[in-house]
Amino acid sequence: MRYIFLLIFALITGCRHEKAVSLRPIPYPYRAALAISSDCDRTDSLGEFLTIMRYLNTTDSTPIGRGLGLEIGYSFWFFDALHSTRFTVFKDTSFELSPAAKTIVKFIRAGYIDYLHTFGEFSLGGFRREFAESAVTFIKRNNLKLLTWINHGPPTNHQNVGPLSFQLGDNPGSPYYVSDLLKSVGFKFFGFYEVCHNVGQDGRRRFIDYLKALKDAQAYLTGAHHWLLGFYLRNHLLESAQLDDGYEVFHFVRYMSSMGRVAHANAEALPRQLSPQVIEELERKSGYMIVYTHLGDNLGPPEYFSDSTKKTLEHIAKEFHEDRLLVTTTTRLLVLNLVERYLNWHYKVENGKVIIFIDRIKANWKPEEDDFQGLTFYTPAPESTEVYIYGKKVKDVVVNPPDFTGRRSVSIPWRPLKFPEGL
Ligand SMILES: [Zn+2]
Repeated sequence: MRYIFLLIFALITGCRHEKAVSLRPIPYPYRAALAISSDCDRTDSLGEFLTIMRYLNTTDSTPIGRGLGLEIGYSFWFFDALHSTRFTVFKDTSFELSPAAKTIVKFIRAGYIDYLHTFGEFSLGGFRREFAESAVTFIKRNNLKLLTWINHGPPTNHQNVGPLSFQLGDNPGSPYYVSDLLKSVGFKFFGFYEVCHNVGQDGRRRFIDYLKALKDAQAYLTGAHHWLLGFYLRNHLLESAQLDDGYEVFHFVRYMSSMGRVAHANAEALPRQLSPQVIEELERKSGYMIVYTHLGDNLGPPEYFSDSTKKTLEHIAKEFHEDRLLVTTTTRLLVLNLVERYLNWHYKVENGKVIIFIDRIKANWKPEEDDFQGLTFYTPAPESTEVYIYGKKVKDVVVNPPDFTGRRSVSIPWRPLKFPEGL
């Protein structure tokens, strides 16, 4: 029976193959994918960081409440010239390790600290290249994998990279030049300064979304930044970009709120940014979205979050646990989106089998095998579908039952992060 089916299928693949075997835009079984991207400003201490992370990512009982079992990342600094936090790798602007350093390393290794929010808090100036040099030495010595950088602070923070005139971190010849160091340890995804108010990138769109995109672009339509008009109109999560020194990278957009600008993108703004209606819209559009926030900017101990913030996060946890919304870290979401959008693959039908070959991605980056986690292909015969990455067979391909569209598929397993133990 299967052979007859596949024979018919093979005969019609010539004209209909895109419908027969196709890449699902979001990993099975989810409808949309979300990252909550928390800049580390105003996270006062290691204790605060740990309490928040346990609440978000475990199911333990915490001072905030019963843990939500999500997968949400965090960012970090190496230095703090304003003495505003103890949550840094080095003490203030010394080169002496802080008590938080060991834990930060653990969380980077586990994938839960997944981006660098610049080398440190230098919002009032005082940054020097030697800070970046010792940070990069630390990254190399500890063999840390960090792909993502997000700018921080006002125009006086010259270590920022990007196209704006005050962003000197990628200008060779500037005393603040650091992007050669970032390149030497593999940073690839950069958040320059873009935020948007459109729910969902790379998903379905309505007419009003184009108007919102125009409004977002308006803020940047000065001087050299007209290129952002196209970026907003295309509404991709990420696009390739070039730093001022020629380094080829990807830049990405973070979502602020569909209701316009929020004064402080902090824990208490989350209910406004991520209402159930917004989550529903994201799922309806099958979009990707990275939410801009500062979870360390909150009501303080012991509970940190108000009831309405907790309710918002509980709703997101419900959508995740009921298989509608994939929730993961900023970097994992960026990798997933990049791989999905630029995947170069083909398939053939042979001896009653559907064989899918993942060849490369059509972008300036070579993913590791692990970076294909979650990729899902619709196939008419999941039980006899094989997947090969770079010519090597994936041994643990998962056969999925029909999803909400009624179509069956296979997936490369998506492995959840493992929360660090023994803290
Ligand atoms: Zn910041």
